[in-house]
Amino acid sequence: MKVGFIGLGNMGAPMAANLAKAGHEVTGFDVAAPCPEGVTPAASAAEAAAGREVVITMLPNGEILRAVADEIIPAMNKGAVFLDCSTVDVESARAVAEQAEAAGLLPLDAPVSGGVGGAQAGTLTFMAGGSEEAFAKAAPLFEVMGQKAVHCGPSGNGQAAKICNNMILGVTMIATCEAFALADKLGLDRQKMYDVVSTSSGYSWVMNAYTPAPGIGASSPADNGYKPGFAAELMLKDLRLAQQAAEAADADTPMGQAAAELYERFVEHEGGRGMDFSAMLPRFEKRGRG
Ligand code: NAD
Repeated sequence: MKVGFIGLGNMGAPMAANLAKAGHEVTGFDVAAPCPEGVTPAASAAEAAAGREVVITMLPNGEILRAVADEIIPAMNKGAVFLDCSTVDVESARAVAEQAEAAGLLPLDAPVSGGVGGAQAGTLTFMAGGSEEAFAKAAPLFEVMGQKAVHCGPSGNGQAAKICNNMILGVTMIATCEAFALADKLGLDRQKMYDVVSTSSGYSWVMNAYTPAPGIGASSPADNGYKPGFAAELMLKDLRLAQQAAEAADADTPMGQAAAELYERFVEHEGGRGMDFSAMLPRFEKRGRG
């Protein structure tokens, strides 16, 4: 397929490189980052998008997505797929989809889970919102860049699935870390705590597959000095998007709100920026109730 790829950062570069490696003809554009091997550089976003069957965006936020959409939608062929894989607010995703549809394009919001490791290995999970037709056309690309793609419904539903998932993840990470820190203070050995919880009703992906305690359970960023992985500031971004969506939809999300506030404190005032989001454990470890 002829693919345009806009946003070649930590995630976009390896995704674009995998598409090129699989034999797709990929043209790329980024305001700062270089094109990875196999991807032909374009002089602008519009040039990367013109004449392509699918145009993929992998950008930092909804504001930038809206600006790039204004630029590329008029340049794209009618019937082409506008596949946005960035994590953005539901409102921006739906506004961009509406604009693309009005121009005769097939929009699909398809944020990912799996991080930089998943992008490099081609094992991302895509959660997609848009028409059946758009999803079917993008499916061969999902197969190269990921191992699973779920069609979640109409435009915006991919972003909805992403922020709901990550709200659970943020809350669960905090709960698991505060429980480890409590166990420490109660004199319960961390390995014993893991042995019990990982096979009891407190188990979770965090405990079993991303254990936040160094040297215990699954190998994870905790075993590498809490180098990300999934950075605390990215978790904060997703928790803020969840709260923004909850406010717009009048949904009561007290645990999500508490998690957003805690990650905000951690990232902005407690040295959490640049650390993996599981570094909540050393944060709790050092504190008392005060
Ligand atoms: P990044 O900052 O490394 O990459 C974003 C790229 O977009 C940068 O290279 C930047 O120069 C480029 N860019 C900015 N404005 C542009 C414009 N107007 N035109 C063209 N390029 C532009 O970020 P990332 O880690 O690759 O994340 C990308 C998206 O994926 C974000 O929405 C993020 O929330 C989401 N995401 C990231 C991860 C992760 O672990 N990094 C995991 C899941 C989802």
